[in-house]
Amino acid sequence: MSTTTTETPAADAGVQLTDGFHVLVDALRLNGVQTIYGVVGIPVTDLARIAQASGIRYIGFRREDSAGNAAAAAGFLTKRPGICLTVSAPGFLNGLPSLAAATVNCFPMIQIAGSSQRPLVDLQRGEYEELDQLAAARPFAKAAYRIDRAEDIGRGVARAIRAAVSGRPGGVYLDIPGQVLGETIDVAAAAKTLWRVTDPAPQQVPAPEAVDRALGLLAGAERPLIVLGKGAAYAQSDEQVRAFVEATGIPFLPMSMAKGLLPDDHPQSAAAARSLALSRADVVLLVGARLNWLLGQGEAPEWSPSATFIQADIDATELDSNQPIAAPLVGDIGSVMAALTDRAKPGQITAPAGWRAELDARKDHNAAAMRARLAEDPSPMRFFNALRAVRDVLAGRPDVYLVNEGANSLDITRDVIGMQVPRHRLDSGTWGVMGIGMGYAIAAAVEAGGPVVAIEGDSAFGFSGMEIETICRYKLPVTVVILNNGGIYRGDGVNAASADPAPTVLDPSAHHERLIEAFGGTGYHVTTPGQLTQALGTAVASGQPALIDCVLDPSAGAESGHIGNLNPQPLANPAPIPAPSR
Ligand code: ADP
Ligand code: MG
Repeated sequence: MSTTTTETPAADAGVQLTDGFHVLVDALRLNGVQTIYGVVGIPVTDLARIAQASGIRYIGFRREDSAGNAAAAAGFLTKRPGICLTVSAPGFLNGLPSLAAATVNCFPMIQIAGSSQRPLVDLQRGEYEELDQLAAARPFAKAAYRIDRAEDIGRGVARAIRAAVSGRPGGVYLDIPGQVLGETIDVAAAAKTLWRVTDPAPQQVPAPEAVDRALGLLAGAERPLIVLGKGAAYAQSDEQVRAFVEATGIPFLPMSMAKGLLPDDHPQSAAAARSLALSRADVVLLVGARLNWLLGQGEAPEWSPSATFIQADIDATELDSNQPIAAPLVGDIGSVMAALTDRAKPGQITAPAGWRAELDARKDHNAAAMRARLAEDPSPMRFFNALRAVRDVLAGRPDVYLVNEGANSLDITRDVIGMQVPRHRLDSGTWGVMGIGMGYAIAAAVEAGGPVVAIEGDSAFGFSGMEIETICRYKLPVTVVILNNGGIYRGDGVNAASADPAPTVLDPSAHHERLIEAFGGTGYHVTTPGQLTQALGTAVASGQPALIDCVLDPSAGAESGHIGNLNPQPLANPAPIPAPSR
């Protein structure tokens, strides 16, 4: 116990006091917290200082959503809750979108926010930054708690950690009023209130009958398929996953953040034959992947209407959310996959050769089309030849953490850039959210040491672009590549009605590289694939902050990328709505 003490002359002889700040920092340290991502201000500035003095690394951001995104990515990468620190009301609210996204993505994080005086807030007396933050956070978090007394700090931290990482991970909100941070407490009493959470995410082993039921279905399959999701990547059970996939020979399909769990060039990967694999599979094993919109809710026409689903997930309430789950495997991915391997009888499960040949033929066909696409060399550059240049560099650097957001920038990068190593791809995730880029990049650099390459649409970059300063301030090994087509989706939109730019248009002549130059990083402005390859190679090798503005044809890009079908369609020729008669 290392609670820092303050001698107070007025106090009884022998009584040594500390305060809520120090108790909170000690509670975090005791539970292995090494890094806090945040933005300081009233009432948490000293909390960051005291944390830093204690040996915790404090990474200060320019806006709370990026700090929260960094904490969420840290949670995904480490399996321990990432910590985000925010001030009261507005700062708290800025952090909330990242807390919500972490919860949706099943990433463990804790947003700790300072808050204003409860007696004034609760009577709505017009307190400084008055907001009932606990109530506001609750709908967006897996759990939300407030610490009302210094003696409860240890309990609050333990509870937040347990809630964030046990079962399905998610975002936890922890409210700490300024008064509690400033509250004094006897160090001996404080010491007794702290504890280290034992086994925060206990192993969850599936029942043998459940495992045998799943194996029975797989044994009878003609066209089995394994879908690997980011829950499988998160579980850090790479060997158990690989062992079952390879022992059975069943084709697998990685969801975007599960790319690299098994290498993308693995012979069993069906990624390049995705639509065929989904539409033809008869028995599907979902491994840490939800049957949500990203998998067409498991419905026809994307899937065969007669497909049978087996689902491995830590959260039993996920099962049957979209389709009947014929064989539930409730447990952690490591335990489930190990049990499947252990209980399979020799030769019980195989992938029929005809099915693998069918997928391989489609893969070859699609790969040839992709090669042809990548070989084209339009000038100005478009997405494919720009990403070919990126791919050529990253092929030799499997250690690079790839952060990726945008619309076309996301879709096409996912298809063009293969991943070889687990948990090295961080992207827009379940919500398809824009603005995660710089926060995720900073977390990958801080938690794993990098190197990081963030491939960003110019529009997506704008949501967290100011964090370029954070990247430079901490001298992080991050290279940002902006696929700059001058717009949301594309930059050639036309407004026929006025001189204002069309809604999708940004500045097609922007020089984003000048942003990083303002903060001491290295900027590049490239217009050809050759220049891009060279700039990226140099930037990654330097290990220093860099930004490459990559000029694309403003006409490159599809509206909403691959999901344009989600846009409601206006009528081509709507009748004018008559003026109201009254
Ligand atoms: P993707 O978007 O890659 O398809 P999802 O985020 O939809 O992945 O699904 C992840 C699933 O993984 C969630 O349903 C979550 O409950 C589950 N999950 C998270 N961690 C674990 C774990 N350690 N073991 C088993 N399942 C997990
Ligand atoms: Mg764009």
